[in-house]
Amino acid sequence: MAKEYRKFIEKTIIVASHNAGKVKEINLLLSPYGITAKSAKELNLDEPEETGDTFVENAELKALAAARASGMPALADDSGYSVAALNGDPGIYSARWAGDHRDFALAMQMVESAMQEKDAQEDDERKAAFICALTLAWPDGHVETFEGRVDGISIWPPKGTNGFGYDPIFKANGHDRTFAEMDCAEKQKISHRADAFRQLVNACFKAA
Ligand code: IMP
Repeated sequence: MAKEYRKFIEKTIIVASHNAGKVKEINLLLSPYGITAKSAKELNLDEPEETGDTFVENAELKALAAARASGMPALADDSGYSVAALNGDPGIYSARWAGDHRDFALAMQMVESAMQEKDAQEDDERKAAFICALTLAWPDGHVETFEGRVDGISIWPPKGTNGFGYDPIFKANGHDRTFAEMDCAEKQKISHRADAFRQLVNACFKAA
């Protein structure tokens, strides 16, 4: 039997993030459904510590904290870069590998050095993925969670200047340019976040 998802029928949703860019992107994605997104920052909600061991645990704890504190449904995501030869690292620590200064040139170099130590040279030894867990939580503790991913390889040296984070070293399967060489619209068609959003929308939202 097909899984029954709880439908989102409210008009406002809290985006459990203090990142203005993320809130803007989510507002855009939700506008066809007649839903307004408000950020945790606008409501002065604290950001909980990301103490989970998985993307899903972290997305759920962030969404639940915002839903319980605001009394409204809340949406949170947790995402990162996962390299097979490094047993999934940097994974949930993707932002932390870049240090307090958010130095992603350094983080990408660390990924490559760790791969060199494993002698990962051939494409099939250089498999990588971006993963995004997206959770919609209600104040009563109910959650619906979706995991999106995009598979590819980790390349070196970095290429391209668009995007952010690890985009310059990731080539999605079937594409000959990195995420940082694509424009935003092109990346959004195949990204892990778009994949998770599509699943959420199909399961929980109806067009207005
Ligand atoms: P979050 O905001 O806790 O989910 O942290 C996600 C981290 O994973 C970011 O700081 C980036 O390092 C990395 N990441 C997630 N999504 C992407 C992406 O689309 N491109 C590049 N890096 C990403």
